Amino acid sequence: MHRRKSSSLAIKKHLPAKVCPICNRPFEWRKKWADCWQDVKYCSQRCRRRRHLLNTAAEELSANRSNL
Ligand SMILES: [Zn+2]
Repeated sequence: MHRRKSSSLAIKKHLPAKVCPICNRPFEWRKKWADCWQDVKYCSQRCRRRRHLLNTAAEELSANRSNL
């Protein structure tokens, strides 16, 4: 039994990857991060903006509750 060559996707050169602490999803190195990959912590702008929720999620929850 021999393996079929899988799609080019699977063959693609292995890129460095990290796990986004916000959405807990792995994301791969991208060209736009070529200069700052070591500083990249979030998979997207969106998660980056939500990073404060990591520390203050509980506080915000109660704050929202009292606001409502
Ligand atoms: Zn994310």
